[in-house]
Parts: sequence; structure tokens; C-alpha cells
Amino acid sequence: MTAQWVIQRAYDILDSAQPVPFDCGRLCDKKCCKGSEQDGMLLFPGEEKLFKGKEGFEIREVPQGKMLLCSGACDRTLRPIACRIFPFFPYVTQENGNYKISVLKDIRALHYCPLQDVSKDFERTVRIAARNLLRDESCADFLLRLTEDLTDLGNL
Ligand code: SF4
Ligand code: SF4
Repeated sequence: MTAQWVIQRAYDILDSAQPVPFDCGRLCDKKCCKGSEQDGMLLFPGEEKLFKGKEGFEIREVPQGKMLLCSGACDRTLRPIACRIFPFFPYVTQENGNYKISVLKDIRALHYCPLQDVSKDFERTVRIAARNLLRDESCADFLLRLTEDLTDLGNL
């Protein structure tokens, strides 16, 4: 199973059950798309290939991997996993060699995203997408690392 295969599959899974059946940016005037030039979305390993050379996107190297910067507007069918799962995040830990996934609200969304209480179904979908991503070792390592970073952030 390659990283690109699990990423494309994750896109399909997430698209099959979005929290609302329309562009959720209409609920909040696209709050999570209004970052500064320094803000961006971390890409899963291999995901950058889908954005290379695409108009409106720029990829930067950051200590955690590759970060996608956008113009604040996009074709929703192209957006990366980080945007598709927001405002949730699959926290992944390892216990006795098995992965444990806990889908929680992303702490970065707590103060502004109106989708947080919308749909239990979507939390389940994020879990299924994460389970699929864990089939690729590089994506699994990425999720484990990001979970540690977000847990540290939450403990600050
Ligand atoms: S994910 Fe939340 S904050 Fe982002 S556009 Fe949708 S409703 Fe707004
Ligand atoms: S890629 Fe699209 S959904 Fe994600 S922050 Fe940029 S404009 Fe918003």
C-alpha cells in the first residue's frame, strides 16, 4: 500500500460524509482559510505530489515536514487532508504494537469552528480515514508524531 494510494482513499472516504452537505465556509465566512502568509497545512508524506505546480498553492519545507500554503480560496475537491478532517484530528498512539485512534476536536478549532458539534457520523468517518492512513508506514509515523506535537501543545 503506497502513501499516495492511502491518501487518495482517505480523500474518497472523507468526501463520502462531510459534516454538512455544502461548503461549510458559508457558515463562518471561511474562518479556517484566513491564515496569514506564514500559516499553512501540514501535508501527509507524499501528499505534496498532488499540489506540486498547482495554481494558488505553495509548498514549504518546515521542521515537521512539508507545509501547504494557499491563497485562502480553493476548489474543495482539491483540498488536503488537514482541511478535510478539520475541526477534528485523529490522535494516534501505540499500545502493545496496536494503533489506538481517538478522534477529538482539534484544539486549534475550539474557539471558532461551528462544525464542532455537528456530526458524530463525521467523527466516525475521520476515524475510518485515519485507520486507512495507518496502512502506510510513513503516514502512520506522521500521525504518531503530530499526535505528540498536538498533545504537547494542549498541555502548555
Ligand atoms: S471547517 Fe469550520 S472554520 Fe473551517 S470553513 Fe468549515 S465551518 Fe468554517
Ligand atoms: S486549502 Fe482550501 S480549504 Fe484549505 S485552508 Fe486553503 S482555501 Fe481553505
